[in-house]
This record gives sequence, structure tokens and C-alpha cells, in this order.
Amino acid sequence: MYLKRLEILGFKSFAEKTELEFTPGITAVVGPNGSGKSNVSDAIRWVLGEQSARALRGGSMADVIFAGSDGKRAMGFAEVSLVLDNSDGALPLDFTEVMITRRVDRSGEGEYFINQVPCRLKDVQELFMDTGIGKENYSIIGQGRIDEILSSKPEDRRALFEEAAGISRYKARKREAQRR
Ligand code: ATP
Ligand code: MG
Repeated sequence: MYLKRLEILGFKSFAEKTELEFTPGITAVVGPNGSGKSNVSDAIRWVLGEQSARALRGGSMADVIFAGSDGKRAMGFAEVSLVLDNSDGALPLDFTEVMITRRVDRSGEGEYFINQVPCRLKDVQELFMDTGIGKENYSIIGQGRIDEILSSKPEDRRALFEEAAGISRYKARKREAQRR
């Protein structure tokens, strides 16, 4: 499984529909300060379900919507789609490509889609459980995250290993069963 494509529209500095294609291997994003490099990783976090505006370097969730700049009007919504190559079947879905979409408008009304079918945030989270992908997982290591992992409480650090070992899914199901 690898990140194949990212489509961004109306998210942060991306006023026009922007499609980024990735190939297996290493990709580096380079550009001058303020050109939108971090906005690309923010878009990935966001589509994976990030709920904290602060983690996305904003004050409120509506700050992710393009606010307008030199002659370009502000947008009314933001939409990001992330396409993963699933030909190895790493994700438990019968598709060789899996697209996750998140859309939000200025009222704060948000929607998620898996392969264009509306779903809940919970469905997106469950899909990625035990894959290491997800807003709090090790597939995205932000600035300061290494220090945070090293100085975290043993039980918090253990969660990272449980995710890598593939048992997060079972622990989550057990927690849910115990609540009933
Ligand atoms: P650096 O090299 O300094 O880390 P960067 O390439 O990571 O820079 P970003 O932080 O991704 O840059 O982009 C910052 C730019 O995004 C700023 O110019 C900011 O005005 C713009 N931006 C952020 N949110 C919005 C928004 N909602 N609407 C329009 N522009 C936005
Ligand atoms: Mg940056």
C-alpha cells in the first residue's frame, strides 16, 4: 500500500484544484517559505480525521478553508481526497484503489466518504486501524514528535507498538464490547 494521489480543493492555500501524484519510494516537497509545503501534510492529517484545529496550525476548524488572497475570493468549503494503492490488499476492502474524502463547509458541517460513499469518521478510523496510518500514528511524524514519543509515559508508548503489532483493532473491539 502506498499514497498514490492527493487532491486538494479549497483547503488552506490551495484555492484551485490541485492534484499531487506520488510513486512508490521517496518523495520530497521543496519550496520557499510560506509556499504551502506544511499545508500538504496538514491536508493529509485532516483527511485522516484530525479534529484539533491547533494540530492543523489554526484557531478554528473553518481556518482550513481557503480565506482568499490577492484577488482570489474566499471559498465556501474545503475538500481533500487521499488515494491509496491497495493492490496488496493491506486495507480490508475489495478495491485496488481506496479513496478517502473529507469535506467541510463554513457552517462546520463535515462529511467523510470512502470511495465516494458517505461514511462516518469512525469508519475511516476503523479502516486504518493497525496499519500505522491515522492522524495519531507513526505514518506522520511531525516536528517534535520524536521527543514526544521518547518522553511519553510507558503506556502511551506501548500504544505505538500495539499498532505496529496489529492488535489495536482487537483492543478497540474489546473496549466497545465491555461498554455494552
Ligand atoms: P515554511 O517553509 O516556512 O515551513 P511552508 O511551505 O510549510 O513554509 P505553509 O505553512 O504550508 O508554508 O503555508 C503557509 C501559507 O498558507 C501562508 O501564506 C498562509 O497565508 C497560507 N494559508 C494558510 N491557511 C490559509 C487559508 N485558510 N486561506 C488562505 N491561505 C492560507
Ligand atoms: Mg512548513
